Amino acid sequence: MTSDQEIKVELCQTMKELYAERILTDIGGNLSFRSEDDGQFFWITPSGLKKDLVEPKHLIQMSLEGEVVDEDTEMSPSVEWPMHLRIFQEDEDFKAIIHSHAPLATALSILKNPPEIPPLTAELGFLVPEIVIVPYEQSGSEELGEAVADRLWDSSVVILENHGTLAVGETFREAAIKTRALEEYLRLYLNAKRFGGELRKFPGFD
Ligand code: 13P
Ligand code: ZN
Repeated sequence: MTSDQEIKVELCQTMKELYAERILTDIGGNLSFRSEDDGQFFWITPSGLKKDLVEPKHLIQMSLEGEVVDEDTEMSPSVEWPMHLRIFQEDEDFKAIIHSHAPLATALSILKNPPEIPPLTAELGFLVPEIVIVPYEQSGSEELGEAVADRLWDSSVVILENHGTLAVGETFREAAIKTRALEEYLRLYLNAKRFGGELRKFPGFD
């Protein structure tokens, strides 16, 4: 079994990579994981700290009742902690969470009438079975967590209206692969559109 200390290192590494790829912005996005040492807790990134500067010592431990465990910490948990908490409560298999402000997904999230985008390739159809857009709820609200938890059964990576994305996985590697795949999917769609003509939906999916 992997220890929390090892997962913290993986979280920070993932965060730096996603920041370098512009999937996380300076102050946009947050990550968390369910504790392997004690399943009644989770660890979450601090609020407001520039995303490529987050180190294991900055992570904040919270209980599944929504309490900060170490009161001495100088940092506050991400404002999105109610959403992360709600997702951990939804299913024990949701172990790592990535909330991002990935640019193409965020661009799609602000359209009043987003296009229907069918599965386009086997790889992307497998990783992102459906482009799910979760209706808008205010950042930091319990309602946002509720709305996201509701749709995670359709796809383990979803778009948050007028905001960004959220992905769950058993590991950060898995959640990051899904976050990137969603962005790749939208890039592929846009590039195909630039060629012009009709899209041919991937035959395996109806
Ligand atoms: P935090 O820095 O508090 O995690 O907020 C970033 C964010 O993306 C809010 O939705
Ligand atoms: Zn956000």
